Amino acid sequence: MTAPAQTRSSADLIRAEEPVLAHNYHPLPVVVSRAEGAWVEDVEGRRYLDMLAGYSALNFGHRHPALIEAAHAQLDRLTLTSRAFHNDKLAGFAERLAALTGLDMVLPMNTGAEAVESGIKVARKWAYEVKGVPADQATIVVAADNFHGRTTTIVSFSTDETARQGFGPFTPGFRIVPYNDLAALEAAIDETTAAVLLEPIQGEAGVLIPDQGYLAGVRELTSRKGCLFIADEIQSGLGRTGRTLAVEHESVVPDLLLLGKALGGGIVPVSAVVARREVLGVLRPGEHGSTFGGNPLAAAVGMAVVELLETGEFQRRAAELGVVLRGGLSALLGKGVLGFRARGLWAGVDIDPAVGTGREISERLMREGVLVKDTHGSTIRLAPPLTITAEELTEALGALEKVLG
Ligand SMILES: *Cc1c(COP(=O)(O)O)cnc(C)c1O
Repeated sequence: MTAPAQTRSSADLIRAEEPVLAHNYHPLPVVVSRAEGAWVEDVEGRRYLDMLAGYSALNFGHRHPALIEAAHAQLDRLTLTSRAFHNDKLAGFAERLAALTGLDMVLPMNTGAEAVESGIKVARKWAYEVKGVPADQATIVVAADNFHGRTTTIVSFSTDETARQGFGPFTPGFRIVPYNDLAALEAAIDETTAAVLLEPIQGEAGVLIPDQGYLAGVRELTSRKGCLFIADEIQSGLGRTGRTLAVEHESVVPDLLLLGKALGGGIVPVSAVVARREVLGVLRPGEHGSTFGGNPLAAAVGMAVVELLETGEFQRRAAELGVVLRGGLSALLGKGVLGFRARGLWAGVDIDPAVGTGREISERLMREGVLVKDTHGSTIRLAPPLTITAEELTEALGALEKVLG
């Protein structure tokens, strides 16, 4: 018999990471060991309200019972086949996801970045085979301040120098235009353009919401010019904004929809390209793939996520609690909050630099039992699980008021 493992303190575990973990993150000094719903608990048993929700990967909260049950049931039957064989979960997941989003076909992948990469490949192939763009000439128009992931091709069209510096040479074929500027977008589209790739709301940039009419304008423009509209809803989608998809606020249906994060229920990485049949139909056997994409565990969890969204309950909660969120933030304007942008249960809050940096505010909130993440210096992002109660949300806003005071 070995002695029970020594319980290690938060401070000890943080110190232990330093020499053995790549330093590509700068986490808050909290070591989480369990969680339920909107709450997480650290190694010492302190409880925190999770106002980040895994960058919206935890839209249904930690360990939602229906999702955990689906995962457990699938773990007891079948976890992986690879796509060399069929599995009995994938057809149902794809049917229901396509129906939920109003599109036809699904390409299952794992991470968000893979969905973006897959969308780029599909759009290029469509450009050559359907639109008739000369070989290797296809372009994709993207927006400044985008965030679409971390692969070499994706950082090739990032405008964040920290994300790019030292990672070249970069993939050609992208044109960058200002976000929320239809004239600039129109000027950048020509006969080589395969697609316009955008976030309907720019999350990492600080929850930047384009003017009303922009997304509908992008849809009209791409249709008129004969190129595809790829909406990256990896963070904005699946209930966060008060609708299933953020593009629904302008009644827009994109040609390709990229989903990830919450699609895996906070349990497994699940992403997807969902598209019209004429577009995704360009892929033939051997041209694209993923060992884990569409695995039965992912499909079972993804199906349970789609079932939760089919009830409409989470979209409704996000819309209703969004009123509480906006009300609470409005009351803080001029009291440490310079401004904010919010849609549904999602806000980017610009903190008065005189009160503290985003990082300092995040650390102070942590000490008050509320976890958030700063972005771009003085902005903090609020994106709690959609299962949070109005009381809990009010508690978090009270903590924000306290640390700003
Ligand atoms: C998180 C995110 C991605 C990348 O997802 P990963 O799973 O981290 O690869 C892509 N696009 C948007 C909009 C995101 O928020």
